[in-house]
Amino acid sequence: MPESLSWRSGMIERIAHTTPRVTNLWFRVALGPHIAGQHVDVRLTAPDGYQAQRSYSIASAPGAPLIELAVEAFEDGEVSPYLCEIAQVGDTIELRGPIGGHFIWSPNKFGNASGAVLMVGGGSGVVPLMSIVRSRAALNAVVRAASPTLLLYSARGWEDLIFRDELIACVANDPTFMLRFVTTRGGKHRDFDFDQRLDEGLLRTAIAQWGQTPQLVYACGSNAFVETITSALVKQSIPAERIRAERYGGTS
Ligand SMILES: Cc1cc2nc3c(=O)[nH]c(=O)nc-3n(C[C@H](O)[C@H](O)[C@H](O)COP(=O)(O)OP(=O)(O)OC[C@H]3O[C@@H](n4cnc5c(N)ncnc54)[C@H](O)[C@@H]3O)c2cc1C
Repeated sequence: MPESLSWRSGMIERIAHTTPRVTNLWFRVALGPHIAGQHVDVRLTAPDGYQAQRSYSIASAPGAPLIELAVEAFEDGEVSPYLCEIAQVGDTIELRGPIGGHFIWSPNKFGNASGAVLMVGGGSGVVPLMSIVRSRAALNAVVRAASPTLLLYSARGWEDLIFRDELIACVANDPTFMLRFVTTRGGKHRDFDFDQRLDEGLLRTAIAQWGQTPQLVYACGSNAFVETITSALVKQSIPAERIRAERYGGTS
């Protein structure tokens, strides 16, 4: 069995409720090194032996000492309410990974430059994109400039934007990183952000403002969100082979 498919015991070192629906958890766990965009599987075992496992994207930058996850709570869910409301610092939970070979970004893989990168995240779909942003932030300015990046990040409202302040700080330090928040239930705080659903027209406007032709696109979120984004991109003549999609499930 590949090393990344063995279950490991991970200890929760820190928990933070970062938005009204999302909890971030930091695990100390002996997994192999990850590439930005990959995920882990998390397995819970009840006292009667019943097990449930779900996938969660890694938010941490490659090489970070702890694995950071950001989990959105689904009231009727099996695993997310446990991670968001019951898990405590000091608990141990089984994880395996890193997993995933397609939805990844690494400057080395693309010879230090992947060209312009468009990232589109819906809700917790921003998590693997955050790992890419963090990975990018650790590069020198010349390498970053070879991959100008636009992140379009859609959430319900301003308070629901996971990693909001860190993302804004990244933009302040990197003129080749453009960030647009898209809030679907109002409450935008910056003039150039968008207060509407992320649809084909908005994508077209944002790409025009950016002024780049995306060489690589990463779209991540619920099935319906990813479907909307990928079909809108194809209509805008972005070749399907440039688009990498990660679907989290669900229909909303
Ligand atoms: C590769 C991968 C990476 C993922 N990374 C993350 C992550 O970083 N953060 C995160 O919060 N989730 C992530 N997910 C989703 C996660 O694996 C679970 O599906 C989610 O936490 C719900 O699990 P649950 O056991 O609580 O709910 P379940 O018991 O599986 O489902 C409960 C209800 O919620 C609905 N539902 C489940 N998932 C979604 C969804 N995404 N959108 C809308 N409705 C949904 C179901 O249809 C059902 O009605 C990822 C999924 C994949 C495949």
